[in-house]
Amino acid sequence: MKPILTTRKTFLASASAAAVGTFFESRSSLAQPAPAPRWKGAANSKIKRWDVITLGNLSRNRYWGEGDAKGVRAAICTCTVIAGDNFHLLVDPSLADGEQMARELDRRTGLKPSDISAVFVTHEHGDHWAGLANFPDAKWFAGPIVANILNKTGKFKKPIEPAKEKLFDAVDVMPTPGHTAGHTSLRFDCDGKSVIAAGDAVATHDFFRGRRGYFNAVDFALSAKTMDRMAKAADIIVPGHDNYFLVE
Ligand SMILES: [Zn+2]
Repeated sequence: MKPILTTRKTFLASASAAAVGTFFESRSSLAQPAPAPRWKGAANSKIKRWDVITLGNLSRNRYWGEGDAKGVRAAICTCTVIAGDNFHLLVDPSLADGEQMARELDRRTGLKPSDISAVFVTHEHGDHWAGLANFPDAKWFAGPIVANILNKTGKFKKPIEPAKEKLFDAVDVMPTPGHTAGHTSLRFDCDGKSVIAAGDAVATHDFFRGRRGYFNAVDFALSAKTMDRMAKAADIIVPGHDNYFLVE
C-alpha cells in the first residue's frame, strides 16, 4: 500500500477546515431565538442625521423646586435640524437675534441660514418662533391650527404654510395636542431609531417621566395622553426645553 503523503500545506488546510467546522457547530448549538428588535425606527430612511442647534431651558422648573407663578430666567427652546439628501429642516427657530442664530447654526452644523430649506414651528408660543424671520429663504411650516393663529397675528413677512401629513416625503407631521390645541410635533427615522422632535408636547425629561404638562398647558389630561402616545412611537424624544433622551 502506498503511504499517504501529507504535506505541511494540505495538513494545515485540513486542520483549519476542521476548526471552522467545530466553530460553526458550537455556534449553531448555542443559537437562541432572535431577541425582539429594540428600536422602533425603519432601517431605510431618507434622514441621514439630525442635530440639536440650541439646547433649551425653561423659565421656571417645578422639578428644580421652582414655583409656577413666575419665571426666574429667560426661556430658550430646543432647536433641531433634520437633514435629508436634499433638504435641511429646522424645527423651532429659537433665537431672535439673527447673528446669534446664524452662529449657533454654524457652530453645530456648519450650515448658513440660507442652507435651511424649511422651518417648522411646533406651536404658537413666542419662544418657538422667535428666530423665524432669520430664515427668509426657507419655506415656513406649522400644523394647520398653529399656522392659522400665527398668520392672523400679522407679525410675519410671508405666510406660514399649513403642513400636510409628511414633509419632504420623510418626516411625519404628528398632531400632539394638550400643550396647545393645535400643537404638532415631527417624527422621523434615523439609524433605525424613531425620533420625535416634540416641541412643548414634552417640556423636559422630568415632565415626560411625570407625564405632566408645563404650567401653561391648555389641557393637562390630553397632554398626558399625548405623551403616552409619543412613548409608544419614539425611541428618542427631543423635548421643547431640554436635551434629547431615550424612551425607556
Ligand atoms: Zn409652549
